[in-house]
Amino acid sequence: MRTHRYLIVGGGMTGHAAAAAIRERDPLGPLALLAGEPDRPYARPPLSKGLWLGKEEASIWLPEVPGLDLLLGCRAVALDTRRREVQTQDGETHGYEKLLLATGGRPRRLATGGDRVVYLRTLADYRRLRAEPGRRVVVVGGGFIGSEIAAALAQAGKQVSLVFPESTLGARVYPADLSAFVTRTFEERGVRLYPRDAVLAVEQRGPVAAVRLGSGQELEADVVVAGLGIEAEDRLAAAAGIRCADGIVVDETLRTSAPGVWAAGDVARFPSEPLGGSVRVEHEDNALSQGRAAGLAMAGSEAPYRHLPFFYSDLFDLGYEAVGRLDARLETVVSWTRPFREGVVYYLDEGVVRGVLLWGVFGQVEAARALVEGHRPVAREQLLDAIHPQ
Ligand SMILES: Cc1cc2nc3c(=O)[nH]c(=O)nc-3n(C[C@H](O)[C@H](O)[C@H](O)COP(=O)(O)OP(=O)(O)OC[C@H]3O[C@@H](n4cnc5c(N)ncnc54)[C@H](O)[C@@H]3O)c2cc1C
Repeated sequence: MRTHRYLIVGGGMTGHAAAAAIRERDPLGPLALLAGEPDRPYARPPLSKGLWLGKEEASIWLPEVPGLDLLLGCRAVALDTRRREVQTQDGETHGYEKLLLATGGRPRRLATGGDRVVYLRTLADYRRLRAEPGRRVVVVGGGFIGSEIAAALAQAGKQVSLVFPESTLGARVYPADLSAFVTRTFEERGVRLYPRDAVLAVEQRGPVAAVRLGSGQELEADVVVAGLGIEAEDRLAAAAGIRCADGIVVDETLRTSAPGVWAAGDVARFPSEPLGGSVRVEHEDNALSQGRAAGLAMAGSEAPYRHLPFFYSDLFDLGYEAVGRLDARLETVVSWTRPFREGVVYYLDEGVVRGVLLWGVFGQVEAARALVEGHRPVAREQLLDAIHPQ
């Protein structure tokens, strides 16, 4: 058995950020990371964006962490929190003083299609998609990943069909007129849209996949890609008796219910006043900042995690950064500098700003954060003047 002062399970952006933070505080403490994937830590967001638009694959690798014992392709299969031991798939036992669970999420799957469907989460998934020679792609799901990969593949010259349940793209997130604009943009860029629809079956027919929709239509595809969101990968923690509720429950210092065990990133359910209670956040900024906070805490600098994460997306030549809750059911105040190209959408609940969408507006995340964290009613006229594109 090998024993480490610090052990991290999960080699995603969170696990990597934690390892780097631990090393900052403790240059010599034995530190190991069990990474389920065969690849060393990398940035995930380019998998549905830049890598399709000419960015080199080599650009995604995260920097090496000095003195990190990085065990690739090594899955943790059991955790004993009383003995402070983790078992791996290949039968090894790793003892720890302090453990971070950064196990992220696994894609939700269709009930049909099996391995014929690509679920875009990992570099291996990206490489598989990249290697598909056929032109006709059916993308299932119009959320973050579905809409981004549909746009990226269309830009890369593929003939893309996008099947999604809402009536317009981003209907649950953007105000109705912006959502209609985004939908038109996809159509103008050649993406065939199948709104208010769902996939009933994916069947192999010779070399192609036949995708049967709820509406009765059938699409032929060389490749089927699904982006249906993720489920928290909390099974290791739950089996060890750690408190889980759609994610590993942590307190404000990112500690789990087990002594000496922290959790962070996509898998962690943490308390956040500005986000309205107990939440999980599935975005890069949270992975990086929460991973870092957990690493610092493990190395002795514990502090409450109060960071309000931002997130972003790119769709053709449209893009945004955002903070807080973007929920089209909330009241919205919209201030356009250039309609649907550059402007700010404020999401309000009883006059209090809950979320800010910086549409085509960059470098204003701090101002948006301050509004959401202000947590008090703001007059409409004041809002229209609150953030100015630079
Ligand atoms: C294609 C794509 C595009 C994205 N684009 C954006 C974007 O534009 N903006 C944005 O804000 N966010 C984006 N995200 C989300 C962002 O990348 C995630 O929030 C972030 O990567 C989460 O990091 P994580 O380390 O917490 O989890 P994960 O990335 O899920 O990493 C967890 C790791 O743990 C490993 N693991 C799980 N269980 C075990 C085990 N038992 N043993 C060992 N290893 C294990 C997994 O294999 C995985 O490597 C995107 C995500 C994807 C997939």
